[in-house]
Amino acid sequence: MTLYARVAVLSGSPLRGPFTYSVPESLELRRGHAVIVPWRSQYALGIILAIESDSDYENPRPVERILDAEPLLDARQLALAEWIAERYLAPIADCVALFLPPGTPRRPKRSASGFRPVIPKPRLAPVQLGRALDAERHARLIDEWPQSRRSRPAALLDALRDGPLDYADAARLFGGAANLARWLSRTTLAASDGEQVHLVVGEDEAGEAAAALRRTAAERRQLRLLRAVAAGEVDEADACRATGATRADVRLLERLGYLTRSSVPFAANVLVEAEPPPELTDAQGAAVEALRGSLFADDGSIHLLHGVTGSGKTEVYLAATADALAGGGGVIVLVPEIALAPQTVARFEARFPGQVAVQHSELKPADAREQWRQLRSGAKRILVGARSALFGPVQKLALVILDEEHEWTYKQTDPQPRYQARAVAQRMAQEWEVVTLLGSATPDLVSMADARAGHAGLLILPERIESGRAGPHALIPPPVVEVVDMREELEAGVRSVFSRALDAAISETLASNAQLILFLNRRGLSGLVCRNCGETVQCSRCAIALTLHRPGPLLRCHECGLREPPPTLCPSCGDARIRAMSFGSDRLVDEVRRRWGDVGITRWDRDSARRIGHAEILREFAEGRAQILIGTQMIAKGLDLPRVTLAGVVNADLSLREADYTAAERTFQLLTQVAGRAGRGGTGGRVIIQTYAPDHYAVAAAAAHDYDAFYETELRLRSALDYPPFGRLARLTVSRTSAAEAAAEADRVAALLQERRMRHERSATEIIGPAPAWPERRRGQHRRQILLRGSDPAELLREIDFPRGWSIDIDPVGSH
Ligand code: ADP
Ligand code: ZN
Repeated sequence: MTLYARVAVLSGSPLRGPFTYSVPESLELRRGHAVIVPWRSQYALGIILAIESDSDYENPRPVERILDAEPLLDARQLALAEWIAERYLAPIADCVALFLPPGTPRRPKRSASGFRPVIPKPRLAPVQLGRALDAERHARLIDEWPQSRRSRPAALLDALRDGPLDYADAARLFGGAANLARWLSRTTLAASDGEQVHLVVGEDEAGEAAAALRRTAAERRQLRLLRAVAAGEVDEADACRATGATRADVRLLERLGYLTRSSVPFAANVLVEAEPPPELTDAQGAAVEALRGSLFADDGSIHLLHGVTGSGKTEVYLAATADALAGGGGVIVLVPEIALAPQTVARFEARFPGQVAVQHSELKPADAREQWRQLRSGAKRILVGARSALFGPVQKLALVILDEEHEWTYKQTDPQPRYQARAVAQRMAQEWEVVTLLGSATPDLVSMADARAGHAGLLILPERIESGRAGPHALIPPPVVEVVDMREELEAGVRSVFSRALDAAISETLASNAQLILFLNRRGLSGLVCRNCGETVQCSRCAIALTLHRPGPLLRCHECGLREPPPTLCPSCGDARIRAMSFGSDRLVDEVRRRWGDVGITRWDRDSARRIGHAEILREFAEGRAQILIGTQMIAKGLDLPRVTLAGVVNADLSLREADYTAAERTFQLLTQVAGRAGRGGTGGRVIIQTYAPDHYAVAAAAAHDYDAFYETELRLRSALDYPPFGRLARLTVSRTSAAEAAAEADRVAALLQERRMRHERSATEIIGPAPAWPERRRGQHRRQILLRGSDPAELLREIDFPRGWSIDIDPVGSH
């Protein structure tokens, strides 16, 4: 009887799949096997989802071969991939691919033999090279390398040092004329003397040239290698790559007794001593106890840890991790963005030395594959990484932690599948019986509503712990928050970006030698505005405001990267009175310098991070090399900087103005998180929020440290409009080269959806739009969107085949 395989094919095609192939008798296939299958006129990698006895497809082509003898994915991973594909309407292959090791080919290839096994092979422990002689003898070795060989070019040079040589004689004595000419062009001058050509060489060049010419290419590689180890041990692979040395070079030098080779097994790392845990506070202890109960019972429960900023959430994560490991389980720790979480990563590495794998976009591919392999083999049991680490091959997974669970980076927008890691983790909890811990000082409204409805346990850390304190812990009060009404400042004639209160507070903080943070709500919100017509200067391709960058000045589009010089006349009305609106961090730095002179400033925004790196910026400030940290969103992430006593929010309003149902929530989160950076040390903290909307409930609640007040108000508003957590959303966006085409296509699909809605009598899904998408244009494409709202907005979409140019986002972040 012929068997058929349902295969998730990594073809890059937007078709959702899976695809059917026949199973040749010679192959013993199981669910989860990686195989090669024909794809159009090429071959692609596939993962077997199921083996069945009949085919839904006539005469399917056969599976070509198996790649790895052992199945790559297990049944529950495949089931989760299928769930993601279904929930987010994504191609099954893209969902299966989430689980594959880094570097797995995701496109078809010409030949079936072009694929290697997918499961990484163990990399041997790295070999270290060192010198076998003492430093002095090693240095002499370098001077004299190679020691005894004399080659013809060297002999020629020696001869030339005694005086000019006749060209013909030289050719006869020291090699062919052609050869000679080659050396000449590099080392000597040819001088003509009557009929004869003489070779000469200058005194200086002779010395250097002799040394260089005396060596063959191999000898030059060996010399570079000897130099590389002169200062001490180096990694063999790195050194060979850097010097071009081959295996044979290394062997030769080792045999001659000039080099040592030694190998440090990976396990040696474990000898580092673990940092002992502190004594927990009562609130931490209660939270850890509750988690321990769940871990012990393997009950797949979800817990929401609501801990105010500085309350020691990380310590709860560490303690729960220790419990999971003690029970023989593995742990996944997700952080919103790995580059922004060096402190968290360092704390896990210090507590669990040698057991932590870190998934990082900057890892070399070979290192990333090695990390994956070490997790799969069980050599490492903790994985720390961003969103996609959720799919890492941690063995006996017992605990998943999402730090700062409210962050939007947990949602993947592009490419497919557009999954929300929090939702996937919740599914893992249910299906895999993994304990899931969501932690935040400002829980997402949806997470909190879940917890209050009893779907998750609520763990609370209501108080701050003094940071940077030696000895037993001490609880400290939250920072004092002051809201400044910028309209009043304007009335009082203040023209500066700093209100009187913030100005005074900065001066005081600088004088007391403490550190302070100034927060700008959005990077470079420094567009050009026309004072005549009020229009902003926009990107011609994306229809969003361009931002002004200094020095330059240069206008840049943060969607498509367009750069252009600022216009002198307003593109809309032709008036010359166009001015910079608001400001970016450049401008803020200028203002601070003008007011406070030569104070040390660290800038932290996307631009500076790209140049210097997040970790280095953080180190600079944490070590006290600067007194002021100026930055955008990034500085709102869970940093622990005990010396910061003042946090100033320069402009609290910009995110309130966004036309999006989440604008208030985002503002509340940002303000609370920024405020949370101040006063973590014992010396008290102060926060000043400058705003034009001091009475807005998001601003007021953040100022009062009152999450519950915000939650109640926001929940009421959401309920009235059926936004999450009440209804769910789906956003359909279409891109076309002309506005008319985009509109026509959006109208066509909207009509189709209306019709399906009529047919499903029960469907309570609302269809909102079509409307312009945000941004309305992107990379020269015109975009329109349709929003669906209801309890299962995907229900109308399941059987529709969307043509190219549509993007479907289930549970999008925000409505725009
Ligand atoms: P959060 O993530 O909740 O903002 P952190 O985990 O960064 O807070 O903790 C704040 C500070 O308190 C850190 O410096 C941490 O080392 C310290 N800390 C946390 N728990 C304890 C404890 N039980 N004893 C002493 N110090 C603690
Ligand atoms: Zn653009």
